[in-house]
Amino acid sequence: MSHYPPDAKWHEMERGGIIPQAGNAEEYHVGGWRNEHPVRDDESCIDCLFCWVYCPDNAVYVKDESVKGLGFSAEHCKGCGICAQVCPKDCITMVPGGDFEDAGDEPEEA
Ligand code: SF4
Ligand code: SF4
Repeated sequence: MSHYPPDAKWHEMERGGIIPQAGNAEEYHVGGWRNEHPVRDDESCIDCLFCWVYCPDNAVYVKDESVKGLGFSAEHCKGCGICAQVCPKDCITMVPGGDFEDAGDEPEEA
């Protein structure tokens, strides 16, 4: 239900798309949005870290400048597929379903 009065006009609406505090993606658990998830082929991965840089939700685990053997954050990955789009080696595949059983480990300090 709208919190605006029934006679409100468009210019009375709050502006959307504003992030008042930068770097707050960690506070939002968008993993529930996911209906597909990324799976990486570690053999083809060259550890360029493009996927880590471009992920809008900081959901690509990295340790010692490497993603190999590591997974993706189930709490923060929303399944957008950007990591797969930017990978220069096409080694990330988006797979149907939200489960991450096949997506590697979480680093100890993550
Ligand atoms: S699918 Fe989107 S949210 Fe998930 S790891 Fe890739 S870029 Fe990040
Ligand atoms: S973008 Fe692709 S090649 Fe680069 S680190 Fe990520 S998975 Fe590996």
